[in-house]
Parts: sequence; C-alpha cells; structure tokens
Amino acid sequence: MKYDYMCSKCGIFEVEHSMNDDAYTLCSQVRDRLIELNGLEKMAEKEIKASGISLPKKDCKCNVTRDITGGNGFVLEGDGWYKDGYGNKKSSSDDKE
Ligand SMILES: [Zn+2]
Repeated sequence: MKYDYMCSKCGIFEVEHSMNDDAYTLCSQVRDRLIELNGLEKMAEKEIKASGISLPKKDCKCNVTRDITGGNGFVLEGDGWYKDGYGNKKSSSDDKE
C-alpha cells in the first residue's frame, strides 16, 4: 500500500508500507522508512543527497499528514501511456520517400 505523507516543511513523500502498520505521524519516521525502502542505511548523508533520492530533512520534527495514493486516475505516470498507442502520429502511410 502506498501512502503520501505530507510535511509542511519538506513536501510530499510517497511511502510504501503495510496497511496494518500504524500511520507515521512524524517526518522523521517517514524519513527512516524511506531510507529503509531505498536501502540507504549504510550511506552517508552526502551520498544520499548525491543519489538524488528526495528525503525529508534530517532534523525535521514536523508532523506529517497521510493521504492514500490510489494510483487510479490521479497519478500521471510520466509519458509511458501514449507511446503504447494513444497519440501515435500516423507516420508510415503517406510519407513515402
Ligand atoms: Zn519535514
């Protein structure tokens, strides 16, 4: 199950965890979970930054609010879908050389 956790300081972070887990309430919990999910436990702070993975700020003590990301209809998954057929330009038939 994926959830969006929103920190007023750090932004929104998508975190995957079990429905049975308690919702995180603190930004630092979200950060810890994201570090775990991304296998960053052994990485130094600057390596994490260099990796481009966005995490909540290290010392953030804000509360977070949770939204469930359904993934249906709302999330636009980049530019994958139209390459599979939708929006294909007709380029083969009339374009003889
Ligand atoms: Zn935060």
